Amino acid sequence: MAGASERSSLDHVASRVARSITRSALAVLLVLAALPALASDTELSGREGHPRERFPLRVWAEAFSDAALDGAVRRALDDWNALGRDVLGVPVFAPVPTREAAQITVAVQPPEASKLMGFTELSTDAAGVVALPVRIVVVAPVARGQTSRETLLYQVVAHELGHALGLPHVRDPRSLMCCVKGSVDFNDPAARDAYIEARRHPDVRSVRAQLAAQYARVWSGPPPREGERLQREKDMQR
Ligand SMILES: [Zn+2]
Repeated sequence: MAGASERSSLDHVASRVARSITRSALAVLLVLAALPALASDTELSGREGHPRERFPLRVWAEAFSDAALDGAVRRALDDWNALGRDVLGVPVFAPVPTREAAQITVAVQPPEASKLMGFTELSTDAAGVVALPVRIVVVAPVARGQTSRETLLYQVVAHELGHALGLPHVRDPRSLMCCVKGSVDFNDPAARDAYIEARRHPDVRSVRAQLAAQYARVWSGPPPREGERLQREKDMQR
């Protein structure tokens, strides 16, 4: 059983922002002014991804200089690689020691820096190919309720790495990529318990079917879209 305060603090709200890349400064200003309105009505489509030959993606993660937290980041990468080998036939991430060498960067912000738990910025070309580098920021975690710092960090890093692969949010409260905003009815005890259980025991394998289906689409050739998009996946606490 979980208390209401833990539930609300663990709520994982995400908003997405996508905009067309434009050379017009005026248009950019207008788009930026409209960001709040756009935040919930633009979504990764489930057709974004990386070409097969790009794997494994080189990842640099900023050190916490804390064995438990650095271990959580390493586990998230290892677990994604196990799933990648299983589903895609390749490990998806290769850790590298320097930011300059990386295709995906995971930077750390102090806990007081933001109400966000983490976010991922990525842009895609007209065919849905993710542009490199992808930038992830995670906020140093603070333990909540029965969930340790390491578990919270694992959940956030693993979730943001999912976005870096192009994965959107889903409606399943048990998934690491939960949730599409507003999709979980927290008045439904079964949905609420499933959500809380998954946050306490985050599992990359919960994304197995989503990853398989998405990369089957991506690698079979996505239809062209109308130009480039910039995505900013924000995962907030509330
Ligand atoms: Zn997210």
